[in-house]
Amino acid sequence: MRLISGVGAKGPACFLLEMAGKRLMLDLGEGPPPGLFPKVDDIGPIDALVLSHGHRDHVGGLSLLPKLGNPPVYATEVVLRALPKGISGRPLPVRGRGDVLGIAVETGRNGHAPGGIWLRFAIGDGLLYTGDICAESTLYAYDPPPPASTALLDCSYGAYDAPLAECWRKLEPFVERGPLLLPVPANGRGPEIALELLRHGRTDIFIDDAMQKALQQLCDGASISLHDNIGDEIKRLAASVKPIDGARGVMLAGSADGTSGATKRLFGEWQDKSEPAIVFTGYVNPTTPADHLVKSARAQFMRWNVHPRLSDTIALVRATQAKTVIPAFCDRSQLTALAAAFAPARVTMDDDVAI
Ligand SMILES: [Zn+2]
Repeated sequence: MRLISGVGAKGPACFLLEMAGKRLMLDLGEGPPPGLFPKVDDIGPIDALVLSHGHRDHVGGLSLLPKLGNPPVYATEVVLRALPKGISGRPLPVRGRGDVLGIAVETGRNGHAPGGIWLRFAIGDGLLYTGDICAESTLYAYDPPPPASTALLDCSYGAYDAPLAECWRKLEPFVERGPLLLPVPANGRGPEIALELLRHGRTDIFIDDAMQKALQQLCDGASISLHDNIGDEIKRLAASVKPIDGARGVMLAGSADGTSGATKRLFGEWQDKSEPAIVFTGYVNPTTPADHLVKSARAQFMRWNVHPRLSDTIALVRATQAKTVIPAFCDRSQLTALAAAFAPARVTMDDDVAI
């Protein structure tokens, strides 16, 4: 397996599996930061691309497909529906068994995004690619992956280990004080934070069009990605939120970094004012408007967990009995701590890993 991008430093997800004459790519992202693409010029044609979920750092590099021979793209229906037209899509189950180029694959929900999955390929004694996962989400369901001897694992948070309840405790004073703008990805933690606000009795939740669309999607086609028995709650949330109209209440809008969408306009309007408070809850991309607002102290950063904590990744390594672990989406400086945490598994960030 060649780790083209996404291991050893923050960057777009892109990995290449080569076995028995077949070439299978896992994810093809863009960023962070925006404009950063995997280097695929020397890769040549591949036989298939498999996508774990629809976030930009996993699917934003599809403009590179012609360089890769325009292969078929495997993903769940929810993810395929949102891709640009003209792509040759092949559906994978959200939770079940499928086949990619004759290789059996098992999938399960990733607890992270609508239509998002982890994949376990029947290669050697099993290869697990988690994409992005989260075991703590109160919105998106997470199916524990089965055993696999090699695990390419979401370690976005490195050795960070604070629980989601702590994220809420830190955010709550800002919610109480109001007005508050939360720049969020609409197809990720946006609806999740909105649900938490509803559960805490907030009736002053305001959202942009992207969030409205995402909530509607969760009520309809993407409901399979949700925890059981919260469909009615999501419908209640979708019915109670209102469009953003001035600085009041708790506002959720995209994009998360202010480079596009409603936040691009709202940052322009509010960056020189003292209200509303602006709190970023995810990775702040360097050189973006979000980064500028945090550095100038106009906005704050307060993480909302959407990736596994260290205790979650340790539990996953034990449960899957992985002998080789490749920590993805974190800096190389985390390697020593993760190697100690995952022992006795072999932990590597080498460019090429034999499976
Ligand atoms: Zn993601």
